[in-house]
Amino acid sequence: MTEDKPKRTELSELGEFGLIDRLTRGIRHRNPGTVVGVGDDAAVLSYPDKKILISKDLLIEGVHFDLVYTPLKHLGYKAAVVNFSDVAAMFGFPRQLMVGIGISNRFSAEAIDELYSGIKLACERYDVDLIGGDTVSSISGLILSLTVVGDAHADQPVFRNTAREGDLVCVSGDLGAAYTGLLILEREKQVYRADPLMQPDLAGYDYILERQLKPEARTDIVRLLSGAGVRPTAMIDISDGLASEIIHICNDSGLGCKLYEEKIPVDATTSSVADEFGISPVTCAMNGGEDYELLFTVRQEDYDKIKDMPVISIIGHMTERNEGISLVSRNGSLIGIQAQGWDAFIGNKKIPR
Ligand code: ADP
Ligand code: MG
Repeated sequence: MTEDKPKRTELSELGEFGLIDRLTRGIRHRNPGTVVGVGDDAAVLSYPDKKILISKDLLIEGVHFDLVYTPLKHLGYKAAVVNFSDVAAMFGFPRQLMVGIGISNRFSAEAIDELYSGIKLACERYDVDLIGGDTVSSISGLILSLTVVGDAHADQPVFRNTAREGDLVCVSGDLGAAYTGLLILEREKQVYRADPLMQPDLAGYDYILERQLKPEARTDIVRLLSGAGVRPTAMIDISDGLASEIIHICNDSGLGCKLYEEKIPVDATTSSVADEFGISPVTCAMNGGEDYELLFTVRQEDYDKIKDMPVISIIGHMTERNEGISLVSRNGSLIGIQAQGWDAFIGNKKIPR
């Protein structure tokens, strides 16, 4: 028996409508707010007398992702999840998703199926309805633009600018892992470039690779906090690194803060890989980004309700503005926090070495 080559269906064989039909056939809706999804000129949603949350992300090949080490299914999953994370950061839940794609004939229909299998898996896991999109051709690589619609718990979104002096600063999960995962992937890419026969050495790095390639949106934290009767006073998701995000909360709320280095949660693999690369683990947490954890503030009165939640770390507190935005290092010295995460227009000036 001869081994079958993987099937490759050219997009030109299907045409735009054939492709849309292939990608959207069999979609079922789970949310009562979805009245009409794919198939007409616009989707129809119903959120009677409610505030809705809406957010968009645009991802460009070569700028936001590298297909050399990003499987298309993971890319689809991550593109959806990072959008869901923005809704979670408003203390809400994602309900509907729209997907715009720009694709060239470099991609086969099977490749786009892979991308969609990731998007659809994310929709399934987070109970989100895929309600439409747009499909166009691109001459400069793959382009993905996703728009998510959601609603806030109790119809009360939590903003970035409403932290109060004395509030506790909390973070979910652990930080810096996605960045160290990226360091490993970039290193193995260089090794592969130098010698394509070399197999990438990814053993032992599962956790940080998954954090980079397959992040999750912390809607579970929204559920956990609302279930415990805790409403954060301010919240943001950590896409650009803890430093950049805490600065947003402080500046927007007109306050300062003190964070404690020893309290910042960093996983053991993250620490050891950071050491391997000669970077301090706290730098990965502060400036690495793409962890998609939630950074939020709560009233001191809520301390008892959150202190025993294992997925939540209390890392500091909000202060008066004139106390500045600072990190108390392990040896007790006070360091001013500066954002060195991703800035779309300044470029990636990450991680001083
Ligand atoms: P129009 O020409 O009116 O903009 P389209 O032909 O682009 O409509 O889209 C037809 C339907 O298919 C619409 O409901 C649209 O939302 C949906 N659709 C188009 N592209 C995608 C996509 N990539 N993913 C999901 N739904 C899509
Ligand atoms: Mg269209």
